Amino acid sequence: MNTLSPVVIRRNLPQAAARLRDQPLRIGITVHVNPDGDALGASLALYRVLTRMGHTCLVIAPNEFPDFLKWLPGASEISILSAGAEAASAFVAEADMLFVVDFNEPKRIEKLASAYEATRAYKVLIDHHPAPSIDADAVLSDTSVSSSAELMYRFLEEGGLLGYADRETAACLFTGIMTDTGCFSHNASDPRTYLTVAALLGMGIDKDEIYHQVYDNFSASRMRLLGFCLNEKMVVLSAYHTAYISLSLEEQERYQFRTGDSEGFVNYPLSVRGIRFTALFMEKEGYVKISFRSRGNFAVNDFSKKYFNGGGHRNASGGESDASLTETVARFTSLLESYRDQLTADED
Ligand code: 5GP
Ligand code: MN
Repeated sequence: MNTLSPVVIRRNLPQAAARLRDQPLRIGITVHVNPDGDALGASLALYRVLTRMGHTCLVIAPNEFPDFLKWLPGASEISILSAGAEAASAFVAEADMLFVVDFNEPKRIEKLASAYEATRAYKVLIDHHPAPSIDADAVLSDTSVSSSAELMYRFLEEGGLLGYADRETAACLFTGIMTDTGCFSHNASDPRTYLTVAALLGMGIDKDEIYHQVYDNFSASRMRLLGFCLNEKMVVLSAYHTAYISLSLEEQERYQFRTGDSEGFVNYPLSVRGIRFTALFMEKEGYVKISFRSRGNFAVNDFSKKYFNGGGHRNASGGESDASLTETVARFTSLLESYRDQLTADED
């Protein structure tokens, strides 16, 4: 993703690592709303290393995360703001150091954003999204890297902190790399990614077991929901090389929808020959959550930012809409005509 023009920002990284080696600190680690395998894998790996070093740490998430990530070492200790973890904001306010992992703008941490901006903590950003707009003292941002988990490995390695990493740390990092690359199917053409994976295997992880925990951990109703989506809800607009799926709250309830159940759904229509642009519209209480994916040059982060208050990567982004589900889908389809040239360029 974004391999055409990778942007690397490195600032004050040795200083950040030196602070960590200096004395025990109170350290907050924040992840974005709807945390995924990469956000949690990278954060929990850091949490484990810092805790083993003797720091007092807290991983803070704005909302719940999927069941298939609950096995991650340290996952049960995460503070979830939407579940009433009031102490987390106070922790951020009083922290000595704060890590921002796998996101690039303050609004991705929702209610925590004001505490983040107000705190005097030393801030470190570790991320692979383009154009970070979040304020930080130390930065490791690289749009060419597979995942924030791979970047976290580099941060630990370069900072001389890998000695504190154990098998559980490695399992967290592998989960981040595996999930953000769709099991090494995209964003995974850099040999360094495999050198990192080799190092993680050398630390004793059970790769097959991790795969099994993440991808063979669904409820029967989630599998039936996927079947329903592909059979009855996938709309293919061949003229625009586009396909989308939308799910109303009623449809989600029919299949006992739980957080994480729709993870990956947006990727399925990309498997249809000729499809280059896909969208998933999930009706929520009062808004619609949207995911976009693309193959090739069509920049879904720009599209999402322009029309749906979102962002992300060139080939994987998300956004939101305050309009109804029907209106949101209608708006989306009406926008396609103005992108016809881009979507049909070099027809395959
Ligand atoms: P997903 O579709 O899996 O929720 O997200 C795909 C990518 O887009 C991720 O990199 C995620 O961080 C980003 N993303 C998802 N939703 C939003 C959003 O509402 N705003 C921004 N800026 N990025 C988003
Ligand atoms: Mn990521």
